Amino acid sequence: TSFSISTYLREHIRTVPDWPAPGVQFRDITPLLQDPEVFRTLIKAFVDRYQSPERRPDVVAGLDARGFIIGAVVAYELKVGFVPVRKKGKLPFTTVQETYELEYGSATVELHTDAVKPGDRVLLIDDLIATGGTMMAGKRLLEKLGATVLEGAAIVDLPELGGSQRLKESGLALHTLVDFE
Ligand code: AMP
Repeated sequence: TSFSISTYLREHIRTVPDWPAPGVQFRDITPLLQDPEVFRTLIKAFVDRYQSPERRPDVVAGLDARGFIIGAVVAYELKVGFVPVRKKGKLPFTTVQETYELEYGSATVELHTDAVKPGDRVLLIDDLIATGGTMMAGKRLLEKLGATVLEGAAIVDLPELGGSQRLKESGLALHTLVDFE
């Protein structure tokens, strides 16, 4: 039988019901990071994909906060730089901002204006895609600075929420490793 990375990773993602709010099934990736072999397998899956010449980015951008953990390690292995897309109010230098709607209220993310250069080809990484709002906001920030997002990558996709579909319809290529219904 062949090795399925999806099955392997899924076994190391913990589901916490009703967190942080009733009705939410939180997909917790911390067990996956905690196990050194699983962590390395996860990183290798991304690195193998993005070190191929046609997919190799100039920069990796990580989404606050779990996208920092995965994105920084992938960038290090690819020998490219890493830039953080942060929640509002955390970045000290001049920023571009993007506000997007949440189920209740809205959220704002920021990126330093010198984080990428026009024409940079960027890999955008987070742990999970739910409604897709966070990844879409990250893509818009990078595009405001003239960069191109080659692909969005995440460990988990929640396809029933429609986010990955919407992102693809907006023209963003996506690569995810595990689906949860
Ligand atoms: P969204 O913008 O709706 O695609 O939400 C994605 C962001 O929220 C990611 O940064 C995730 O870490 C977090 N998130 C949303 N829903 C979940 C969930 N069910 N389990 C774990 N993280 C989630």
